[in-house]
Amino acid sequence: MGRDADAIIIGAGVIGAAIAFELGKRGYRTVNLDKLPAAGYGPTGNSCSIVRAHYSSPDGVAMAYEGFFYWQDWERYLGVEDEAGLARYMQSGTILLKSATGHHEKVLEHYRRLGVEFEEWDREELRRRMPIYDTGAFWPPRRPSDSHFWDPASKELDGAIFTPGSGYVNDPQLATHNLQRAAEAHGGTFRFRESVVEIRNDGDQVRGVTLAGGEKLDAPVLVNVAGPHSFLINRLAGVEEEMNVKTRPLRHEVHHVPSPPDFDFESDGFHTSDGDTGIYFRPESGNNILIGSEDPDCDPKIWVEDPDHYDRAVTEAQWEAQVYRLARRIPTLRIPLERKGIVDLYDVSDDWIPIYDRSRLSGFYMAIGTSGNQFKNAPVVGHLMAELIDRVERGHDHDADPVRVKAPYTGLELDAGFYSRLREINPESSFSVNG
Ligand SMILES: Cc1cc2nc3c(=O)[nH]c(=O)nc-3n(C[C@H](O)[C@H](O)[C@H](O)COP(=O)(O)OP(=O)(O)OC[C@H]3O[C@@H](n4cnc5c(N)ncnc54)[C@H](O)[C@@H]3O)c2cc1C
Repeated sequence: MGRDADAIIIGAGVIGAAIAFELGKRGYRTVNLDKLPAAGYGPTGNSCSIVRAHYSSPDGVAMAYEGFFYWQDWERYLGVEDEAGLARYMQSGTILLKSATGHHEKVLEHYRRLGVEFEEWDREELRRRMPIYDTGAFWPPRRPSDSHFWDPASKELDGAIFTPGSGYVNDPQLATHNLQRAAEAHGGTFRFRESVVEIRNDGDQVRGVTLAGGEKLDAPVLVNVAGPHSFLINRLAGVEEEMNVKTRPLRHEVHHVPSPPDFDFESDGFHTSDGDTGIYFRPESGNNILIGSEDPDCDPKIWVEDPDHYDRAVTEAQWEAQVYRLARRIPTLRIPLERKGIVDLYDVSDDWIPIYDRSRLSGFYMAIGTSGNQFKNAPVVGHLMAELIDRVERGHDHDADPVRVKAPYTGLELDAGFYSRLREINPESSFSVNG
């Protein structure tokens, strides 16, 4: 069989680029194919790129905690220069408000067990650290159309969990470009404006891909990192049916508003997870605040059939839901006249936990179902997937004996079996962006 590369990676988002870098370090000649014009131009570029550790499962916490150290060590980790500059890690810290969701209780247990640094703040400390926050409990999350939306707080929040190591990456597209340059330094190539339209295989073993222009590329390894298009690529490969957990695109809006007057949220604000009102928010350049939804039950879920065609306009209803919720938490917020924001797609799995796995087709792998919460983990996933691919290609039976890897920074064990396509739906999941 001819070989144009040792591994073809479909997608050049942050995870696709990280897998290329990590495979390159292990001697694989990689080619990333992306139908967009540059690395990180898909959902990655619109990511809020928040780096935080509060996941529902110990595996989720371990992976995200490991991620902190990659971002803190970014320049050294990459080991290359990028003419475009390097993405910066803004270590703002995270406030996880204690809410009736009970999410913080699960998280605390995992933090203690895994050694994640945290502070537990009571209500007084929360007020002292963030005097602009109203510490009222408004539970349950509501839509502004609900007549009780503006009701006074029923009681007070119990406080918060603060993690000093978390934050956000200032430019997610640049971070992806950095990974592209790092992959290229190990022999990887990136081809843009190339759409994969066929996965060629002989029934048991993958052979290669066909591009929209008719060109055929052959490789013994293919990796599906196509984000919200992941289900389409799996269907082209004929591997979806066997999977117990599947993926589909979900529309998501993020809005940005100016910081309240007399407060510099960009410098003095924290990334905050507010399950009580159903939003998350973080500092943004220009002294703005970015706001996303934590997917409370009252928010309609807009599942998208065709990821190339969906409504990319910010809606009045969702803008008001997210901005007014923030106004409940920060009463001095001024509601802007102009509705600013972005709309993009999450690639959501059935239990909002990713699938990092092989498939029934030898040589065909997937890093998909990232459910709006895996930007932070991209370099960790690069390491995990590269190990998984390398060991399976050398004959390891991953389905029978899941690959486990040692995380380089924390020394924690990462169990790829947790992310199996064959797993049962994980009942411990928050079934939201919190994973
Ligand atoms: C609005 C929003 C906010 C988010 N906020 C956060 C956050 O704060 N923190 C966090 O950790 N995560 C967040 N995420 C999630 C995070 O951004 C994603 O998990 C991550 O970017 C996924 O990277 P990726 O490499 O898998 O894919 P993507 O960025 O989805 O890229 C997939 C690529 O595949 C290409 N492709 C698809 N089909 C084909 C084909 N047939 N041929 C060629 N190319 C193809 C696409 O063009 C695309 O560039 C957010 C996501 C969104 C949408």
